[in-house]
Amino acid sequence: MMRLSSLLVMLCGFAAALAWPAFAQTPAAGASAHLSTHWEELTAADFRSAIEMSKGTCVLPFGILEKHGPHLPLGTDLIDVRYASLAAADEEYAVVFPEYYFGQIFEAKHEPGTVAYSADLQMRLLQETTDEMARNGCKKILIVNGHGGNEHLLPFFAQAQLEKQHDYVVYVQWGHEIPAGGPAKKTTMDMHAGESETARVMVSRPDLVHQDRAASESGADQKRVNLPEDVYTGIWCARFPNHYAGDGSAATLAYGQADMKAWVAAIVQALRAVKADDVSLKLQKEFYEKSAHPLDTRQ
Ligand SMILES: [Zn+2]
Repeated sequence: MMRLSSLLVMLCGFAAALAWPAFAQTPAAGASAHLSTHWEELTAADFRSAIEMSKGTCVLPFGILEKHGPHLPLGTDLIDVRYASLAAADEEYAVVFPEYYFGQIFEAKHEPGTVAYSADLQMRLLQETTDEMARNGCKKILIVNGHGGNEHLLPFFAQAQLEKQHDYVVYVQWGHEIPAGGPAKKTTMDMHAGESETARVMVSRPDLVHQDRAASESGADQKRVNLPEDVYTGIWCARFPNHYAGDGSAATLAYGQADMKAWVAAIVQALRAVKADDVSLKLQKEFYEKSAHPLDTRQ
């Protein structure tokens, strides 16, 4: 018969095995491999370990809610950018911020389901979000852009970080090249909800693609205003009144897989470069110091 003391040792050992790593102050070696990349899934203690493991590198995947042709979900950009960012963080560990879709999308306000926050709120919310991320240890914030309408907002936001002091660096990642030799693209005009974007959703959420509806509206450039290429207006509906620019009916899963793979690779490459970058934060700090007394800057 087993002695009571041996039984207790055994039971305690079993309980400890069950409890680990929840009761550990810091996870033992190997525990980090189990840390989620999702900010919202981590416990407070594991969040601290996650920040350490990511070397303070966090990802803010930036989506939007807007019409995507007659056949794709409103959250296409949000769904895709999270899919690519989370896949990249699985390869190169980083803490990924929850759903964020508070970007520039005034040009789709005439379509159902668009959520367009005011311009000043977009900037304030993004600034407070990155400030809060940094206060929690994210000293390198990689904003991965999934929405074409943010193409001016995000570089402007990055530039605006020089307005006043921050103890973190904002990086913006946008775009990727599909290596040659893969499936060929069938369409020449391929912008919003077109061949590529439709193909990507076939990978991220195939159940939400209604490809049979893709040809029910025109995604052709309607050219309703005649202006030179180098003259810009924000009136996107002059060209694409259906909020559709391209032809989603041409999309294939094979193209989507090649496209998504290239996107994930681009984010992985960005994460590695950001982690290795020990210069930007120093130069930014030096810039803030110098900008306080510009007359001392050597001429
Ligand atoms: Zn989109």
